[in-house]
Amino acid sequence: MKWAIKHQKQCNLDEDTCNECFHIGESLWALKEAHYEMDQKKNQPKPQVKTKNVYDYRLQEWRNEVIK
Ligand SMILES: [Zn+2]
Repeated sequence: MKWAIKHQKQCNLDEDTCNECFHIGESLWALKEAHYEMDQKKNQPKPQVKTKNVYDYRLQEWRNEVIK
């Protein structure tokens, strides 16, 4: 994002006028959201993974398959 910071320093237009500034704003916002979501997930207990026993005829053995 170095180019973005550089651009914002050089550019005198606002986000509504400059297409690049608009995209920079958008991606910074998305980045912030992603970090926020990651923090939220960290504080939450992991969801229990449900598995089912599936017989694999090719390997001729039972295995656990994650139910999605
Ligand atoms: Zn700009």
